[in-house]
Amino acid sequence: ARDIEWAKNSIELEKEHQQINGNIIRTRFPPEPNGYLHMGHAKSINMNFSLAFDKLGITDQKNRKTIFRYDDTNPDAESQEYINSFVDDIKWLGFTPERTTYSSDNFQQLYDYAIQLIKSDKAYCCDMTKIEMETQRELAMKRRNRNCSVERNLEIFEKMKLGLYDEGTWTLRLKMDFTSSNPNMYDLVAYRIRYTAHPAAAHSSDNGENGWCIYPNYDFTHGICDSIEHIDYSICTLEFETRREPYYWILAQLNMFRPNVYEMSRLNLQYTVLSKRRLLKLVQKGIVGGWDDCRMPTLSGYRRRGFTPEIITKFCNDLGATRAANVIEMEKLYSTARISLSTKTIRAMAVLQPIKINIMNWIDAVKESNEEGDKNGMTFEVQNSPTDTTMGSHTIGMTSSIYIDSTDFRLVDDTDYYGLAPNKAVGLKYYGGNLICDEIIYEDDDRKVIKKLNCHLDNSLTRNKPKTWISWVPATTAIDCEIRIYNHLFTVPEPTDLWEDEINSKSEIIYSKGKIDSSVLINDMCCCTKINRKQSNQAFQFERIGYFVVDYDSTYNATTGKGRLIFNRTVTLKEEVSK
Ligand code: ATP
Ligand code: MG
Ligand code: MG
Repeated sequence: ARDIEWAKNSIELEKEHQQINGNIIRTRFPPEPNGYLHMGHAKSINMNFSLAFDKLGITDQKNRKTIFRYDDTNPDAESQEYINSFVDDIKWLGFTPERTTYSSDNFQQLYDYAIQLIKSDKAYCCDMTKIEMETQRELAMKRRNRNCSVERNLEIFEKMKLGLYDEGTWTLRLKMDFTSSNPNMYDLVAYRIRYTAHPAAAHSSDNGENGWCIYPNYDFTHGICDSIEHIDYSICTLEFETRREPYYWILAQLNMFRPNVYEMSRLNLQYTVLSKRRLLKLVQKGIVGGWDDCRMPTLSGYRRRGFTPEIITKFCNDLGATRAANVIEMEKLYSTARISLSTKTIRAMAVLQPIKINIMNWIDAVKESNEEGDKNGMTFEVQNSPTDTTMGSHTIGMTSSIYIDSTDFRLVDDTDYYGLAPNKAVGLKYYGGNLICDEIIYEDDDRKVIKKLNCHLDNSLTRNKPKTWISWVPATTAIDCEIRIYNHLFTVPEPTDLWEDEINSKSEIIYSKGKIDSSVLINDMCCCTKINRKQSNQAFQFERIGYFVVDYDSTYNATTGKGRLIFNRTVTLKEEVSK
């Protein structure tokens, strides 16, 4: 009989919902502010703000509405810092919520619903401990608590609210079904006692001076908030599939409109962990420098490292809305990044670990090149983009000394080695001719540390054709910089329970003595003085090394030449075996 009654009400509620929403279809994104948003959230954001509507065929933007809700029912783990970061991240991704709400906005209403459930004998106060609840189902079924009078339950609940009991003593439980095949129907806890101030106290006007010391649990809060906000599609991850039953149960008991619950697979990414709880540990243990460390799979980490909203959105769209549990290859994200960056980045030459080269025949080499018609000495015009002429060009001037990367030089030559070695020639990018090493100059007599290489240039017609062309930086105009190279955070593609032992000790390699050609300063492209913890927009393609962006810890001032210039590698130029 109840079912028939509910079905009747359900039709009424649907109608009412239709009247309120009209043509609007509404979703919501409800993260808990207990950490920073990560790539898994990006998938969810993209789904709730965009993909879900595409899938539903709702093309008219004015009918696509998404509520951004702070699911803030657990004051122990939540903080204002996290609350603030969510706003920045969502805005950065380019999405605008219909409105921003807090679950805590509804604390009073949730409390009233709890009272309503007690009165209809659908909720009761229980003094079993958490362990007892989990282990003693039989006991719980017969336990006196479950059959207490409504009056007694109201009285105990009131005392819980007044703060007359200790934490962990009493809870409010829903009178569900202990015979169900779904353990989530075993009388879920709706309220618990917690003497922790709420971070969003400011947002919830109803909780009075003293705030709350009872808090509603996730399952109880979530469905009611969805219903109150007139959400059409409540999208969550698959591990919540078994929570669908209590979700509908609660709304049915309260005669409230039921949104459609829809599950999709949780995003897992290789070589990292997508869980705020685990990421928090990395931060707390100092394994990374913070939530916005470039190795973190957080949106703030990716942003700092040079990933753009466009890259992340494309990646999420490509993931689609699957229900299959899967671990996505990090390469998939990286290749999405490469495709996007290759069309936007400006080329520059940089070296990570410089070796100085003295060009011994410099004057002759310049003369020779001038005879060939170059009036400006040894300068080369370089197109900013190898494929797109509209991105302009810049000039690189060679000087009598240059830097090359130490990985392009070996003391002992080898047949399958094409770089520079004593008495061996290698091609110099843009110059077109060869560089030949004649002499090694050491720092000391013990000949351990190389100071510089004395070399000469050979542009003769009879020169050997080199097997490779190395990049270089003109020494007199080079700018000192720090270059940060990032590798996977974990050594294994799927970190296990022992994940703390699987941290990659080489996940960040800092080259503090890098050199870069000064073309990166043209048109304020580094914008270092303006950065101020905001990501610079211009990304660079360091030839042969990867795609880079200026880190927001940079303090370099192009006018005075003072301060540190720091670059983060976003991704390598091609897929590479990780180190
Ligand atoms: P975490 O375990 O990292 O704290 P969570 O599941 O508790 O994540 P919330 O921040 O509370 O996530 O939830 C915000 C929304 O983002 C939820 O709808 C959740 O399903 C979704 N979400 C969280 N992580 C992922 C993920 N890895 N893939 C897809 N969606 C996710
Ligand atoms: Mg959660
Ligand atoms: Mg969580």
